[in-house]
Amino acid sequence: MIPAMKAAFLAVGSELLGVDRLDTNSLAATALLERYGVELKYKAVAGDSVADIERELLGMVSCCDVVLVSGGLGPTADDVTREAVAAAFDRETREDAAVVANIREMFHRMGWVMPEVNRRQAMVIEGAQLIPNPQGTAPGQLLRADGAAVFLLPGVPRELKAMLREFVEPWLQSNTCGQVRETQVLKVAGVPESELEERITAAYEEFGRENVTVLAKPGDITLRFTATGEADTRQPRLAAMARRLRELVGEAVYSDRDEALEAAVGRELIEHGASVATAESCTGGLVAERLTRVAGSSAFFEGALVVYSNRLKTALAGVPEALLVAHGAVSEETAEALARGAREGLGTDYGIGVTGIAGPGGGSEEKPVGTVHIAVAGPRGGKSRKFRFPGDRELVRWQSSQAALEMLRRQLLQGHE
Ligand code: AMP
Ligand code: MG
Repeated sequence: MIPAMKAAFLAVGSELLGVDRLDTNSLAATALLERYGVELKYKAVAGDSVADIERELLGMVSCCDVVLVSGGLGPTADDVTREAVAAAFDRETREDAAVVANIREMFHRMGWVMPEVNRRQAMVIEGAQLIPNPQGTAPGQLLRADGAAVFLLPGVPRELKAMLREFVEPWLQSNTCGQVRETQVLKVAGVPESELEERITAAYEEFGRENVTVLAKPGDITLRFTATGEADTRQPRLAAMARRLRELVGEAVYSDRDEALEAAVGRELIEHGASVATAESCTGGLVAERLTRVAGSSAFFEGALVVYSNRLKTALAGVPEALLVAHGAVSEETAEALARGAREGLGTDYGIGVTGIAGPGGGSEEKPVGTVHIAVAGPRGGKSRKFRFPGDRELVRWQSSQAALEMLRRQLLQGHE
């Protein structure tokens, strides 16, 4: 058993050095390492070059106990991870007859004949243990080199994840002290990050600053909290942390899962047996789009009016022309009329109206870019709010959809009381 193991991750593939592909495998690996308290010291991306891979590997084994390499195990000439590892640690490679037979059999099952190049995937490094790959042709390999455990894993993300789960995780389980680090989340909307920070100050003190993290995006915050230990101490601790954080943050917590706001709103609507429709101007149907991302949304979502021009605000959503002339299209009155128009015109329990200036043009001194009015009409009356969102067009539109969903959620919560 190695106390406080250190790890490094090497992503192999020339395509990962270009602008089209990003290394995402290291994220899956890092999440697993974190869970077992293994510190990732560094990660690197190398092209399909024996010399480059070799140099990185030698650096990694010199300071780490675990080295995870992904990619370059394919059958083509540019898949050189096996050669590079053999060269780095001065090992021979040999063709493994059982692996060749297995690959031949996989091709056969698909009605194909194995191309001879696939024999490259059966080259095993001297002293390495083979790791089965139930999802693909190339097996992984595990070898001990210069005091480190070196894992060669596939580059195809699906295959990599399966191997991490089925082979690397059990290895970590038996080679670390069994103190699992588990993370849970609370999702929060409708509070600025700085205010959330203030609200949870006590939790930082009670649980340790390193165990509570705030990850903020505009309009959407993920509160991550972590506990380490055996399952029977870790899980009650996480439950206590969740309770305390909920108490501090209050109603702004919309979920205890890593999910988007629309999923929580959908659940709430189903619980109320309520339906919703939208009439959207500056969001162009984004609120409706987000609601329909939720599987089973037909249980609560009826439809939307995308009314961009004043003509259609009047013709389809029933916003009186005189109201538009008197207050302007971007106004509290218009948002409220849109919400009513959606609710009454489309015959739902709740209606959402959104109107605003997403920019970059169209702003004025009185109504600068980012000014958005949102209204929700419901069986117990309506509510409207004026927002001033920062950011570009995309961000203003996204924050508008987030605020609209959050206003609906809050209105539904009040219905519980
Ligand atoms: P390879 O195992 O190098 O043949 O890679 C197979 C496929 O997986 C290719 O389409 C790669 O672009 C993809 N891939 C390889 N490495 C990574 C990585 N680190 N992150 C995401 N995708 C990858
Ligand atoms: Mg490759």
